[in-house]
This record gives sequence, C-alpha cells and structure tokens, in this order.
Amino acid sequence: MKSIAAEAVLACLATCQPSLAQTGGAPRRDYPVKPVPFTAVHVHDGFWAPRIETNRTVTIPFAFRKDETTGRVDNFIRAAKALRGEPFDNHRYPPYPFDDTDVYKVIEGASYTLSVHPDPQLEAYVDGLIEKIAAAQEPDGYLYTARTIDPAHPHPWSGNQRWILEGVNSHELYDLGHLYEAAAAHYQATQKRTLLDIALRTANLLDRTFGPDKRAIWPGHQIVEMGLAKLYRVTGDERYLSLAKFMLDSRGPDSSEQGAGNPYVEAHQKVVDQTEAVTGGHAVRAMYMYSGMADVAALTGDAAYVRALDRIWENVAAKKLHITGGVGARADGEAFGGDYELPNMSAYNETCAAVGNDYWNHRMFLLHADAKYIDVMERTLYNGLISGVSLDGTTFFYQNPLEATGLADKDQRSPWFGVACCPGNITRFMASVPGYIYAQRGDAVWVNLFVASSADIKLDNARTLQIAQETRYPWEGAVKMTVNPDAAARLTIHVRIPGWARNEPVASDLYRFADTSAARVTLKVNGRPVPLKLDKGYALLTRTWRPGDTIELNLPMPVRRVAANDRVAADRGRVALERGPIVYAAEWPDNPKGQVRNLLLPDGAPLRAEFKPALLKGVVVVRGKAIALAYDAQGKIARTAEEFTAIPYYAWANRGRGQMMVWFPTDEAHAKPQPYPTVASTAKVTVSGQNRRDPRTINDEEEPASSDDPTSYFDWWPRKGTSEWVEYAFPKPATVSQCRVYWFDDTGRGEVRVPAAWRLLYRDGSEWKPVRTREPYGVEKDAYNRVAFDPVSTSGLRLELTMQPNWSAGIQQWRVK
Ligand SMILES: [Zn+2]
Repeated sequence: MKSIAAEAVLACLATCQPSLAQTGGAPRRDYPVKPVPFTAVHVHDGFWAPRIETNRTVTIPFAFRKDETTGRVDNFIRAAKALRGEPFDNHRYPPYPFDDTDVYKVIEGASYTLSVHPDPQLEAYVDGLIEKIAAAQEPDGYLYTARTIDPAHPHPWSGNQRWILEGVNSHELYDLGHLYEAAAAHYQATQKRTLLDIALRTANLLDRTFGPDKRAIWPGHQIVEMGLAKLYRVTGDERYLSLAKFMLDSRGPDSSEQGAGNPYVEAHQKVVDQTEAVTGGHAVRAMYMYSGMADVAALTGDAAYVRALDRIWENVAAKKLHITGGVGARADGEAFGGDYELPNMSAYNETCAAVGNDYWNHRMFLLHADAKYIDVMERTLYNGLISGVSLDGTTFFYQNPLEATGLADKDQRSPWFGVACCPGNITRFMASVPGYIYAQRGDAVWVNLFVASSADIKLDNARTLQIAQETRYPWEGAVKMTVNPDAAARLTIHVRIPGWARNEPVASDLYRFADTSAARVTLKVNGRPVPLKLDKGYALLTRTWRPGDTIELNLPMPVRRVAANDRVAADRGRVALERGPIVYAAEWPDNPKGQVRNLLLPDGAPLRAEFKPALLKGVVVVRGKAIALAYDAQGKIARTAEEFTAIPYYAWANRGRGQMMVWFPTDEAHAKPQPYPTVASTAKVTVSGQNRRDPRTINDEEEPASSDDPTSYFDWWPRKGTSEWVEYAFPKPATVSQCRVYWFDDTGRGEVRVPAAWRLLYRDGSEWKPVRTREPYGVEKDAYNRVAFDPVSTSGLRLELTMQPNWSAGIQQWRVK
C-alpha cells in the first residue's frame, strides 16, 4: 500500500532538513494490529480512573518536585551555565549519569495527561523544563549533563570522550532514549516542537556519527531503540529507524564495544540469535531491548527478530515469570536468574522491569494478535506493576518481593530512590493505561482489558465504531459492552477470554490451577447466548453490528489455588491464591498477632471472597481458615486453627511494614512454624552507629542457608575497617554459657566479609566484662561459630568486632544459650 503520506516520506528522505522533517507520516509498514490510542479511550471505572487521576494530580507533581529538590533539574541549569561560560559554584558531575532520564520520564507522563486533560499550569511548567533542557544541549546536538557540566571531569562512568564507555555504563544513549519517548509524547500532546526539536538534534548527531559506514555503537542500557522508533513514527524520517536497527544488529560478542559478550547487557549473542532471557542479564535492559526489537520488526518486517522474540518469550513465560508478573528474580545485577529460579523473599522484580514486561507483551500481541501475551500483560499490570506505587501515589517500591519479614529496607515503600528510575516509569505508564484496552485491524476490533470505559475507534475503512464497557472488574467478572458503529457494519469483535478463566494462568507449564472450577464463561449478544468459539484466546463475534447492540460477558471469579511447576524450589508444597486477575497476599495487619509466615493452608479449606469498600481504597479480600504453626518449649509443633485474610498483592505495605506472604504452604514439611521465644529472640537488640538495616534481623530466628543468604541479615556497610558492636538487653536476667554467630559475607557481589576478630562481653552492673572462654572466636563462613564460656547471670550480652581492613562486616544470626 502506497499512500500520499508514504510518498511524502520518501520524497522527504532525500531532501528534508532536520527542522523540516515530515511529521506524522504513517510508516509504510507497521504492527499488523494497531492499539487504539489512550487519547481515544475514556476510562470512568472505579479501579483505574482514580489511579490515573492520582497519578495526574499527586504522583506527577510529586515526582517533578523530587526532580527539583534532588538536583536533577539543576544538572541541566549547571550544564547550560557551563556552555555559556558563566561562573557557577558546583562543578561536580551528577550522582548518576542517567539522572537526566528522571526528568524526561516525568515529562512523558505529564504529556500523556495533557493529551486528555488540558492543564495550562502543568503545560507551562513543562515548557519551562524544556527551556532548561534546550539550554543544556551542546551546539552539535549532544545532550548529557554528566559530561557537559565539566567536560574535563565527567562522571567516571562516562569516560573522557563521548560514547567510549557506552557499551556498559555511560548511559548516554539511555538518556537519549528516554528523551525521545518524552519528545514524541510532548509533541503529540501539545503539537509543540520544542522538545521534539531538541530530540531530533541529538538523533541527527547520532546519525552523523554512527551507522554502517561510520562508527558502530549499541547502548549499554537499552531504550534508545524504542525511542528512535518513536521518532520515526512522529517524523517519518527513516534514518531514525535505520539507526535503531543498526544498534540492535551491532550488539553482540564480536563488536569492539566494551560490553561485547557480556550477558549483563544482553550482548552475549547477536540479538537475532538469542534464545532466552539470559541468566545474569539485567531485566529492565532486556525488556526494553525486546520491546525495541518488536518495534523494529514491525516497522521493517524483519522476521528474524520475530523468531528470536518468540523463543525468548517462551523461555520467560515457561521459566522466568513470577506469579505476580514480575521479572528479574535476582538482586545481584538486577537480573534474570536461571530457569525456574523464582525465589519469593529475595525476588527482585524491579518495578521498571514490570513496566518493561508490559511494553514487551503488548508489542508481542500487536505482532501476533494472540491473547496469551495479554494474559501476561494483565497479570503484571494488576499485580507486580501497580504494587510499585502506594495507593496515595507518593511512595514506591523498587523491588517487588513475594514474601517479607517486615525487617528489611525493601519491605517498606520509599518516597524516592538514589537511582530513581521506578517512580518516573510509574508516572508515564499509569497515564497511558487506557491505551492497552482496545486494538484494531481492518474491520476487526480486539477487547483486551475489561475496564468501564468508552472508546472511539477509527476503522481502516474510515468508519467509526464506539464501544462502551460497563463492569466492576477486577472485582466482578460481569462485563456489558455496547457497540455503536456509525452505521450497520459487518465487523469481527475479538473478546478476550482471559487465561485465568480458561484454567490456564499462563500459556506454559510454569503455573497451573491446583483446584477445579465448574464455573463456565458465558457470552451473550443482544441477550442471546452465543457459543464460545475461541481463536488465540479470543471469542470471535462476526456479524453485522447495529448501533446499540450489546455483548454480555460473564467471567466467573471463584477464588482459585495456583501451584507452580515442581522445578520452582521456592514454591514446592505451596499454593498462591488468585481471584480473577488478582493475586493475593496475606499481610500482617489483617492476621492474628501480625504473623502470616507461619500459616499453613490445607488443601480444600473453603475460601470466600468479600468486598471491603473501606479497606485499601476498596478491595475484595479472600478469607478462610488456616492453621497457625508454632514451636513449643519442647520443640514440638503446636497447631491453632485461625481465620486468615488475604489482600490483593498490589496493595501490600500501604499500612507500614511487617510480614507478607504470597505462596502459602499446604503441608508441614514446607511450613515455617513460629520459633519458640529464646533468650536471644526476646532480647532488645541495639547496634553501633546509624545503619540502613534493621538490627532486629540479628535475632529474628530466620535460619540462614549460607553466609550470603540475602533473606534477612544485618550489616554495617558502607562502613569499612571499623570496630562495631551489637548488644542484647534481656527482658530479665538470664544465665547464659554459649553463643553461636553466623556471619554475613557477600563475597562475589558486595563488600562485606567475616570480621578480623571479635569477642563477647556480659553486663555486670554498669560495666561490660569479657566472658571467660578457652575457645577461639571463629570466623568461618556458611556455619555457626560456637563459643562456650563460663556461665554468667546477666541482663545483657555484647558482641564486639573489628572488621578486616577495607571490608565491612555483618551478621546473619546471633544465638544465645
Ligand atoms: Zn527502576
């Protein structure tokens, strides 16, 4: 198909100056299915509409304020002063070379909101930011405050010349990728070219510098590929698409870039040869790369990209996806683990990776028109993605684990982060959620998500179709759609029948329902039942649609138990609870004594759902009888039947920190009875200095699997080479004669080692006196170091240690007898 727009693009390719680039030229080739843009969808439901509004009125202004108060906006101002040769005080490079992106991302989010909700004050504020960005751009288009502020002393990750450290950590192209996403959004929202022109100047610099007959380059942190694809869509200038493909094709083990061969940046193989989300590969980078590959595949018709993406998707869906839709299991490298490595407590599941997972799965749907991708997208969206932002929109999770003691830093939401990628990603994603509901091709329409909304869909034959949905999804499964074509028209409407309603949580053998449900999905057109004819997960409704026709879908929502593939060690002997698209978690405030990790959920114990309008902004909770397990004084397990309550996983940690658990043990072999109180566990623990970690991890009776077990430990990092102490104050004097210490040591990934030396003291009145022992104070790893001493009756013990020079120290567990 050759359109006038395509002709214009072709003509433009040869002659257009950057500032005259063709705008809005439809690409000659694109995704076979097109999303119905969020600007054409009005959401008025009880679930998303308030979230999108909170994002607009709270999170976006909040994130802009953080960009100001943390110096991220000032970086542009300082870079501009440096360019103009004006004196300024602080010449130090920004803390991270990617801090610029936090401004770009929130501009992108703000732009999306401006597209549907004019706000002159917000628009003026964004205009002001864009002026600051423009002033920080170097004359040839280069834009990167980490160098421009003081080119003689750039950020150490940046290298002393442009681009030379891009292959791992300079993030020059990463910054530009986010700039492009923001620029496209801002241009489409406001029709102003201010940010777009800044972006095009940088893209033209890239085009002049890199390419098949110029220098090679690929981004150490991906996203520029997606960004360039957007610039191509906006301008019709094929140079940007070619550059995106060039960067993807240059990536790999044979390139001369610094990260060549490194799986951390997904450069272990050429992208077309990749077969899996590689172990040790940074998850956010991977998700952005796959999304960029999908864009380039759609825009160029490159089938090799699609084959690679299909293989990688199979690997993730079958082996590397948490039940919450979270990806990137390992904290170490923020990376994918091995196949079936899906831990709960230590699950990393970065919020950005969840956002990226949805970008990618949505694109896979647009390529293949298969609902299995929307199943993953929906699972992530309703669980492991929106868990990343608090209900009030002002605190965030970077990590989204599936179990918590409540003692770790990561168990509470934070208003911001030193590396602040996640809040900005939330602002832009939440603002665009309505764009994921519908899609269209020719005379076919897809209904992918169930959200009370109305959409004006432009069909390819210049006809229009309005679809309205009324539903209380995700709490109820009844969905009524009203179809209003501009005139009677023969169309196919694809209504997604979610995998969870077809006994298939994910289209793989990674998860399965452990129970059965007799409830059946029903579908009616104009009140008459129609048989469910499924194609790629959709019920196809082909007929002549007339204004006012109705579709009634009923998706029964019993509470279901889900089991994981037996190869997932962390979930063996356990089930997760789901109802509709929502994954549940038991959390401390709703359960007896604030304990949930000692619960056991017997198979077959009845479960019921209850809507609680006042709880967590209105949620359906799951309730039932569980068994609380505890060790008694003799070390035997005591069992107590208890009513338990589970809340939607996404809503956890909105009421302070404490225990949380998604996967419930179903037998005692996999359960974790509450430990019997000991002289150590009942002691009040204090430590020397101000620390990031809660010292209550030292006596929490959490049994370490090894010295580097990340589950629950204390360390004094970043202090190194110092002497430190821990004290136990007993509630009443006790006679003690033995201690066992399990050291924390993260050799291979951190800076904590066993100490150089340590000793024990006991409290005698107001004094600390060394205990008398003839045994050595051991510093073995991966084991308890036992020290027996002459019995003392005392109100407290003190452990003093001296770190090894240049290393820190930490403790997994300190037991006393
Ligand atoms: Zn992040």
